Amino acid sequence: MGEAMEFWFTERQTDDLGLSVRVRETLLVEQTPFQRLAVFDTVQYGRMLVLDGAIQTTDRDEFIYHEMITHVPLTTHPRPREVLVIGGGDGGTVREVLRHAAVTRVRLVEIDGHVVAAARRFFPGLSRALDDARADVVIGDGAAHVRGARGAYDVILVDSTDPVGPAVQLFQADFYRAVSDALTPDGLFVAQCKSPYLDRGLIREVLDAVRSLFPIVCLYTAVIPTYPSGFWSFVLGSKVHHPLRFDEGRAEQLKTRYYSPEIHRAAFVLPRQIGEELIQTT
Ligand code: SAM
Repeated sequence: MGEAMEFWFTERQTDDLGLSVRVRETLLVEQTPFQRLAVFDTVQYGRMLVLDGAIQTTDRDEFIYHEMITHVPLTTHPRPREVLVIGGGDGGTVREVLRHAAVTRVRLVEIDGHVVAAARRFFPGLSRALDDARADVVIGDGAAHVRGARGAYDVILVDSTDPVGPAVQLFQADFYRAVSDALTPDGLFVAQCKSPYLDRGLIREVLDAVRSLFPIVCLYTAVIPTYPSGFWSFVLGSKVHHPLRFDEGRAEQLKTRYYSPEIHRAAFVLPRQIGEELIQTT
């Protein structure tokens, strides 16, 4: 008898770098109209959602990304009532938004209904939030949705895939202009913006585009083990409220595992070289 076989999934993060995880079981592989979707049960990270070969979320580290994309903007806005999530079909961001009592409605606009269906089947801890009475799930293009919404949202969270396929438009200047128009006069938005180690060109382009539209623009970061380089960034654009004058009392009371008032402040402190390179273009 030979040794038991091992199965590994490798995300090719760049042409020259990959992250490999040992797979206990392949739960789903399908081609949707938008992307190739897979769900693996992995030894290290539990269940893992993969789109076009890129890890989106895992049981063990999902809370970091979902808490950080949500609680930084929602404690910055004094009364976040109407919230829009673009992408995020797994439901994790909606789950975190619903922790805020002020929220009366959170609308999720996800382009791919197969992602929502896979999350309902394999990630109940994320997707359960989509059944909440305050949640409204729309299957459609987030860019088209914001173009049709004027002054409708206090906070918009762009929880997208990386800029390939239908998500390319979510990283373009026209989209940020539409986001600005879809916000209330004191609204703000956050978009995930890839790795400060691997994607500084993209981050700089996004910062330049957002700076031409919003008076307050900041980059903040989080440590997310399964994303390329493990170090991730979020761009925040705000019309009035500054993210370093946030509601610390509310932040303290949230039931979180990564986010805290201290993490909120620290997340805006960039490593020297990255900060100097990205601030240089202001
Ligand atoms: N947390 C993940 C990350 O940063 O890697 C992203 C999670 S979520 C699964 C991303 C979602 O964005 C995908 O389900 C994808 O279908 C969706 N998406 C991509 N482009 C979109 C668009 N134009 N409108 C709405 N949703 C979009």
